[in-house]
Amino acid sequence: MKKWNMVIDCARCHDCNNCFLADKDEFVGNDFPPYSVAQPWSGHRWMNIERKERGQYPIVQTGYLPKPCLHCADAPCIDGSPAGTIYRREDGLVIIDPEKAKGHPEIVGTCPYGAIYWNAEADVAQKCTGCAHLIDQGWTETRCSQVCPTNAIKVVFADDAEWAALIQKEELRAHREELRTNPRVMYKNLHKWDKVFASGSVAFKDTDDCADGAAVTVSIDGATAGEGVVNNYGEFVVDRLEPGKSYTVRISADGYKAVERTVTLRESLNLGLVMLEKA
Ligand code: SF4
Ligand code: SF4
Repeated sequence: MKKWNMVIDCARCHDCNNCFLADKDEFVGNDFPPYSVAQPWSGHRWMNIERKERGQYPIVQTGYLPKPCLHCADAPCIDGSPAGTIYRREDGLVIIDPEKAKGHPEIVGTCPYGAIYWNAEADVAQKCTGCAHLIDQGWTETRCSQVCPTNAIKVVFADDAEWAALIQKEELRAHREELRTNPRVMYKNLHKWDKVFASGSVAFKDTDDCADGAAVTVSIDGATAGEGVVNNYGEFVVDRLEPGKSYTVRISADGYKAVERTVTLRESLNLGLVMLEKA
């Protein structure tokens, strides 16, 4: 059968918060029995946009991770909560039962992603429902996907084989893969959140011009891990590198001596200005 899935593209998100606000518009003050009771006015972020900066001045990038409940197929919240308080629907959506979950604040701590919130007034744990109440009325979008101006959020109804093929084709990855929760919300361009880059500025020493077109190769243990080209502003960025690992960065241009630097990328790094000398 077709199941509910979601793709979030970190390269398309620009932190406009429309998705966060649409969620508020839908759920604050509105009960949707038997799916959910009203979200309180403050304190909950059922669509939580996390933010980070990578790099150092002047080569800095912002990264955004819009994070709802990930509707995990192997959900620690279901395994760790009292029986029946959280359940998985046939379409894959994971729902906290707003009646059975009453009086169980310990449910909040069962989600390793921090996607569950406590509603003290209603005495119940709450989270994103995947807009199950709308899906069951025939909607093919969630409120957050509907309002995203850059199409960073897409709902995909697919059977398991179609979904697995899409994951491979689009190179989708799970947030915090090491948790092995098999989430139904998968990310595109997640490297903008969880990988690091090496960057720098390069100029020709003899002319003082930007080294436009110079080649950059980043390698680890002799194997190429990434490649880039110096642009017409004299800058390069080689992304999708693993944090904490040591790499060799080689910069070369015809007629000039190549420069090599070995760096440990605890975080994204700006190597600063590299001058290429005539060979
Ligand atoms: S609506 Fe789209 S672009 Fe705006 S914050 Fe949400 S995911 Fe990002
Ligand atoms: S993200 Fe958290 S709350 Fe949502 S299904 Fe996974 S473990 Fe449960």
